[in-house]
Amino acid sequence: MSEGFDVIVVGAGPAGNAAAYTLARAGVSVLQIERGETPGTKNVQGAILYSHALEEIVPDFRKHAPLERQIIEQRMWLMDEGQACTGVSYRDDGFSEMPHNRYTIIRTRFDRWFSDLVRGAGAIVINETTVTGLLKDRAGRVIGVQTERAGGDVLADAVILADGVNSLVGQRAGLRADIKAEHAALAVKETLFLPKELIEQRFGVADGQGVVIEVAGRITHGMIGTGFLYTNRDSLAIGIGCMVSDLRERGIAPYQLLEGMKRHPAVKPLLEGAAMKEYAAHLIAEGGYKALPNLYGDGWLMVGDSAGLINGVHREGSNLAMTSGRLAAETLIDLKKRDAPFTAANLSAYKAALDNSYVMKDLRKYAAVPDFLHENPHVLGAYPSLLSGAAREMLTVDGVDKRTKQSRILADVRQKRSLLGLLGDAYRFWRAFK
Ligand SMILES: Cc1cc2nc3c(=O)[nH]c(=O)nc-3n(C[C@H](O)[C@H](O)[C@H](O)COP(=O)(O)OP(=O)(O)OC[C@H]3O[C@@H](n4cnc5c(N)ncnc54)[C@H](O)[C@@H]3O)c2cc1C
Repeated sequence: MSEGFDVIVVGAGPAGNAAAYTLARAGVSVLQIERGETPGTKNVQGAILYSHALEEIVPDFRKHAPLERQIIEQRMWLMDEGQACTGVSYRDDGFSEMPHNRYTIIRTRFDRWFSDLVRGAGAIVINETTVTGLLKDRAGRVIGVQTERAGGDVLADAVILADGVNSLVGQRAGLRADIKAEHAALAVKETLFLPKELIEQRFGVADGQGVVIEVAGRITHGMIGTGFLYTNRDSLAIGIGCMVSDLRERGIAPYQLLEGMKRHPAVKPLLEGAAMKEYAAHLIAEGGYKALPNLYGDGWLMVGDSAGLINGVHREGSNLAMTSGRLAAETLIDLKKRDAPFTAANLSAYKAALDNSYVMKDLRKYAAVPDFLHENPHVLGAYPSLLSGAAREMLTVDGVDKRTKQSRILADVRQKRSLLGLLGDAYRFWRAFK
């Protein structure tokens, strides 16, 4: 055992905080190092909080966490350039009585709140300090971290890497490769101030209730990606993200897509009079199951975004981050109780716990989706456009009989996609998402 800490946690996002809090509460000595001025200042998220993951760590979080609105309605919009199919939505005012409900949050506030709990549980948290590398012994076992501060090397029996999507620390130490352009989305997000009453009027919700809108279709110019519009207490979060490889190939900047989305006739009235508060850009790991790095080794564990644990299909990330942080911490707690060393063989229990959880089960389920989207990019542009065209045709009452309209729609479909093409798309879609 080292003369330093039992565990060092690098990063104070949801993954790092979940790990540090779980460890500290169990009496393990923890040092958490965060490069931001305060936790959350460097972090970007939509942000939907999926409460189940937090409930497992802080069961009474609803009493004190800074929650914005409870989501009672989820809308899914398919957008063409000028039109939008806004018909798919699910509203349930009963969500508030359900245990695993969802909330919108603002990450700067949420991360700071979580970090206060970590400190309160007994961990030492140091902000404004960047971890620059990992210390290893002669056998290659991780024994601590290097920081940018003079004399800033710190020893520990284990290091948890929770340093986010780029994980420069993991890369420099040769624990994982740089994220590939075709495995990463670049998302931009604006927070726009809008008085609370206007939000409630425009989105049809009461005090404390919220709506989230997920957007797909030609809004991304046929590139793989999606947009979102979420309601906070007195602000809106609007964003859009596309694969870095697509953006590079097309020479399109993400902010151009965001401007396009804000100008869209279905979105513009919702933003009327809103004032810009904040602009942020961030990468999202979208490589899925097949792109996961090794998640543990002698003296180290990788959690959250740094391990690529993102479910891009359901737009979940922070919950996978918190669950993986908790499972990594529980693995270390269990080994410490048994006086078992933090060897790769012993830490493989973390991977087994992840495999047994929704985290890996979901990632495995959608393992084929990234390849499907790369090989069939037309599905994101062609089908929303066909749907919009069909809706426009059928809803225009212009004296043309409905059978003729139906034939026009079918002709449009056949012109854009052959029957074989349609069947092939349906089969490949089913295989990827089944
Ligand atoms: C635009 C956007 C919208 C999203 N929307 C949602 C959503 O609605 N719901 C959802 O669940 N997920 C969402 N996600 C994903 C979610 O944000 C991530 O999955 C989640 O933040 C991962 O948590 P983490 O702790 O692993 O990483 P992060 O939140 O990135 O935290 C990493 C931390 O490590 C620190 N750090 C990095 N390097 C170092 C270093 N060398 N030394 C010290 N500290 C370091 C960083 O400053 C940061 O605080 C979204 C992501 C984006 C970009």
